Amino acid sequence: MNTPTKFVLDESKMPRDWYNIMADLPVPLAPPLHPGTLQPIGPDDLAPLFPMELIMQEVSAERTVPIPEPVREVFRLWRPAPLYRAHRLEKALGTPAKIYYKYEGVSPAGSHKPNTAVPQAWYNAQAGIKRLSTETGAGQWGSSLAFAGALFGIEVTVYQVRVSYDQKPYRRALMETYGAKCLPSPSDTTNCGRAILAANPDHPGSLGIAISEAVEVAASHDDTKYALGSVLNHVLMHQTIIGQEAMLQLEMAGDDPDVIVGCTGGGSNFAGICFPFIGQQLRGGGRTKQRRIVAVEPSACPSLTRGKFAYDFGDTGHLTPLTKMHTLGSTFTPPGFHAGGLRYHGMAPLVSHLKDLGLIEATAYPQTACFEAGVLFARAEGIVPAPEANHAVKGAIVEALRCKAEGRSEVILFNLCGHGHFDMSAYANYAAGKLVDQAYDENELAMALAGLPSVPA
Ligand SMILES: *Cc1c(COP(=O)(O)O)cnc(C)c1O
Repeated sequence: MNTPTKFVLDESKMPRDWYNIMADLPVPLAPPLHPGTLQPIGPDDLAPLFPMELIMQEVSAERTVPIPEPVREVFRLWRPAPLYRAHRLEKALGTPAKIYYKYEGVSPAGSHKPNTAVPQAWYNAQAGIKRLSTETGAGQWGSSLAFAGALFGIEVTVYQVRVSYDQKPYRRALMETYGAKCLPSPSDTTNCGRAILAANPDHPGSLGIAISEAVEVAASHDDTKYALGSVLNHVLMHQTIIGQEAMLQLEMAGDDPDVIVGCTGGGSNFAGICFPFIGQQLRGGGRTKQRRIVAVEPSACPSLTRGKFAYDFGDTGHLTPLTKMHTLGSTFTPPGFHAGGLRYHGMAPLVSHLKDLGLIEATAYPQTACFEAGVLFARAEGIVPAPEANHAVKGAIVEALRCKAEGRSEVILFNLCGHGHFDMSAYANYAAGKLVDQAYDENELAMALAGLPSVPA
């Protein structure tokens, strides 16, 4: 076989700027609103939570934002990340399609999340911040921020959703190895946590509650700020290094993607791989034929495919600004499933906006179908994907089999956003036939949607 398997960029080719899709949007994004006044918020409203540099990135309309040199220096530990041609998966599927995957599992924490954890910790350190508070579900984000905090001498406090805290001791051990403090949420360290525990001492917790706790701590301490691992504009922008690298690597391969696939929890790894390509097309560059961009989400938490495009809160305690997004309602609790990173009730405003404009598609699959795809991938390519990433693998395989049925040799690119080495109990459950596809409760969804805040048009 003469076609290469791995496309590796030299460190000198690592992108020097992040790409900001705000500059190329055909219709501007709806502004975030203050949770009390329902008026558009300004940079000052966010100042208790984030350092000014990150707030300016959040509202920036500049097409490119330079990546600070100290951040690029840390990135050199694992970036540029490799792009692979999935020769063996193609053969296993018998597809004429060419499948490429960008592998973000090579980072120290094992996913794409350090791409934003490192710059967030760096900007906070530059602003003299001593501590960062954050939430984590399965622990991917918490361990990424713990790693980044250790690099720049910032203390990190992580509120981990109680069920994950109890069920996933190894991610917690990783956070503690990096020096972070990890607390089960709801906890007795915040007003929000205490109120929930008073009503139910055995509350299993949720991402929405953990966000409320982390935000409360940041808002009430001068030396502490808050960090979020997805959803926000600046977080999505930090991830665009993925797609920019993939663009250069596909040039090396002499190919251009017809279809780009990513999994969506809050939308950041998906945005990372596809925004640079979407931007190129919005500016009329690249190619004339429209690429298809496919977001894949779990059927049990289907914000893009079943949610409403409306203003909603980002957290359960209603401390965060309201943003216009695809949402299942901030009180919606998805049934238990293994892709912890995809359990959020909302979707990034930018990804939601692109969906509303028809610039991206969305589809949902149940977890057993995704694990089946992940196991097929592992047996062909060797890498065991994170349960979240299995959704992207499933989406790519569906496209490859469509190409087979249609006899077309399209080029498929997907983001393999993390490895599953901390998630082997989920794979063991799958192998033992213990994974079931639990549907969400339609009544609960209807109630959560009925409870959306009413915002005057
Ligand atoms: C956190 C996480 C996700 C979900 O977050 P996005 O912002 O949608 O990328 C997906 N995959 C992995 C491996 C994660 O750690």
